[in-house]
Amino acid sequence: MSHYPHLLAPLDLGFVTLPNRVLMGSMHTNLEERGDWNRVAEFYAERARGEVALMVTGGMAPNREGGVFPGAAGLFDAQDIANHRIVTGRVHDAGGRIAMQILHAGRYAYGPECVAPSAVKSPISPFAPKELDEAGIETQIADIATAAARAREAGYDGVEVMGSEGYFLNQFLVTHTNRRTDRWGGTYENRMRLPVEVVRRVRAAVGRDFIVIYRLSMIDLIPNGSTWDEVVTLAKAVEAAGATIINTGIGWHEARVPTIATSVPRRAFAWVTKKLMGEVGIPLVTSNRINTPEVAEAVLAEGCADMVSMARPFLADAHFVSKARRGEAKRIAPCIACNQACLDHTFEGKVSTCLVNPRAAFETELVYRPAEEVKQVAVVGAGPAGMTAAIVAAERGHAVTLFEKEQVIGAQLNMARVIPGKEEFHGLVDWFAAELAATGVDVRLGVAATAGDLAGFDEVIVATGVLPRDPGIPGQEGANVLSYVDVLRGGAPVGGRVAIVGAGGIGFDVAEFLVHQGHSPTVQPELWLAEWGVADPAAHRGGLTPEGPKPLPPAREVTLLQRKAEKPGRRLGKTTGWIHRASLQMKGVRTMAGVNYEGIDAEGLHVSHGPGRERPEVVPCDTVVLCAGQVSERSLADALVSEGRMVHVIGGADIAAELDAKRAIAQGARLAASL
Ligand code: NAP
Ligand code: SF4
Repeated sequence: MSHYPHLLAPLDLGFVTLPNRVLMGSMHTNLEERGDWNRVAEFYAERARGEVALMVTGGMAPNREGGVFPGAAGLFDAQDIANHRIVTGRVHDAGGRIAMQILHAGRYAYGPECVAPSAVKSPISPFAPKELDEAGIETQIADIATAAARAREAGYDGVEVMGSEGYFLNQFLVTHTNRRTDRWGGTYENRMRLPVEVVRRVRAAVGRDFIVIYRLSMIDLIPNGSTWDEVVTLAKAVEAAGATIINTGIGWHEARVPTIATSVPRRAFAWVTKKLMGEVGIPLVTSNRINTPEVAEAVLAEGCADMVSMARPFLADAHFVSKARRGEAKRIAPCIACNQACLDHTFEGKVSTCLVNPRAAFETELVYRPAEEVKQVAVVGAGPAGMTAAIVAAERGHAVTLFEKEQVIGAQLNMARVIPGKEEFHGLVDWFAAELAATGVDVRLGVAATAGDLAGFDEVIVATGVLPRDPGIPGQEGANVLSYVDVLRGGAPVGGRVAIVGAGGIGFDVAEFLVHQGHSPTVQPELWLAEWGVADPAAHRGGLTPEGPKPLPPAREVTLLQRKAEKPGRRLGKTTGWIHRASLQMKGVRTMAGVNYEGIDAEGLHVSHGPGRERPEVVPCDTVVLCAGQVSERSLADALVSEGRMVHVIGGADIAAELDAKRAIAQGARLAASL
């Protein structure tokens, strides 16, 4: 009997039967733009081998003006079609199916050529779009239909027409971006004319027996977004125009509500797709923050959709479905929804990969081959760097012993997991534990390894991590001063008014912890929706409450300080920093930049401003929490080196500055792959 009867049930589309209910959602990896088609093919083939039923590629531009950025990939000529055949051929050989997403960005295109229904600039792009005339609209429709026909020629099993997230087709649907008075604007019938015509023409271009997915925005999360009646009307029209499947889109990119970040509750929006069930006869796919087989199974069992879409979970683990089928869910590397190595990379023009799985999109380059000579490997420190090195080395056949001075594995991850909104880190630590056990690593907890303990090993990997930096503020030895470690790991009591020294990743995390103490909206979906002002789209246009976000009052009065004059939080993740800043703002956290720390006493934290140490003032508080960054813990590495031993130093012990789990895990994996 299957562990996940709904998830693993086949889905009959009439002309083809998908083997299960899992769709890999579209992700832009930036691989296609690099032209290494063997690498692109291997990325998708690996996921096909992992038994996902249907994959959707990253968005392909139908024409130059519709590309997300200048030079965005698309099927423009015979060479492009030949390149894509390499991908589809490899996927089919692996037993998989793949649909190509056609993405016209409209006014979200990051270039001066961008076009839109009306000349309304988007808040997330510096480029004002050109308003299309009648002929221009026809060109866009024809180009999208041509792209679909070329996708079929290139061997794809289908296409996904991107109609959500605020892209071109979505821009026609709402008055927010469509101010036209001709037959493409005005009434809803006119505004939906373009998306429906696109589906009709795509179907005509590809013929029968070819999957056409329409990605439909079910809750726009912007002012003047679609009403629920409009969503239902469009879904019916899209079905009538020839779509095979409707996929769910949640929120425009310019929405001020997080939709996929780690602090969004799991399956937070499945209820929106459920509202559409029964309104159309074709299968519906739900998406957003579904990252385990249990959650996916529950969503389907509760009738929220016919299929689930997961995208980032397939970066974290290409074999998600096959592991679920074999009853090995504990061994599925979890997507923690951090965006750090995937979406953030996309926006930085880098190849998207995964914090948890550095092999994602590097399948042809980072290969874990069986070791030619089995070695005795010692790893010291069970943080992300050390655990990854231990697991990869053991997987390759080495005999690995992992020493950890604490009684538990995880190191810094154990601090992340107590932060409200970072609950996914629990799953990450559990996965590391499962992998250490499954690969046979000899884990020695509560052992602070010395140089003597490490004699006799062929390879020694030091991953001893970091120590909090001492900011040297006069008065910091007082009882009212704590380090972030005391607060997050020691459970030290903290007063009602707090000043946090240091507004880096940890300063922000500590602020979240202190303003929320006792509850986490991430595990209380109703509360989370209210906090961010999300409404039922049947009650309020676009799914936004008229009164806006309604945060609970903060548990404490917090001031977050830094010495740099720049905006605090500016260096946080590109796609998630705004959420951290908005979240703390909603909780009334005060930020101060450009300060000097003059001293701490019973009154509070004394600061002055600017290089001239002007305008001295006191930040009144009961507790000061030091979050002033970290320095490498290298004492063991130094002792070994002084004895003339060869050591590999990784993670924070190697470089503490700007350390994050992404760098630690990648470094551990690459080192272990080379031993
Ligand atoms: P960090 O991001 O480097 O921030 C350190 C903070 O301490 C800065 O605000 C810095 O600002 C301040 N600081 C540095 N030296 C100081 C000194 N001598 N005296 C007083 N203040 C000082 O380090 P972190 O917050 O400890 O985080 C460590 C790593 O974990 C970071 O790389 C971070 O990216 C990662 N992390 C990420 C997240 C995330 O959400 N993605 C969350 C937690 C941690 P000034 O120099 O301007 O005062
Ligand atoms: Fe998920 Fe983070 Fe990996 Fe992206 S980088 S796939 S969000 S775990």
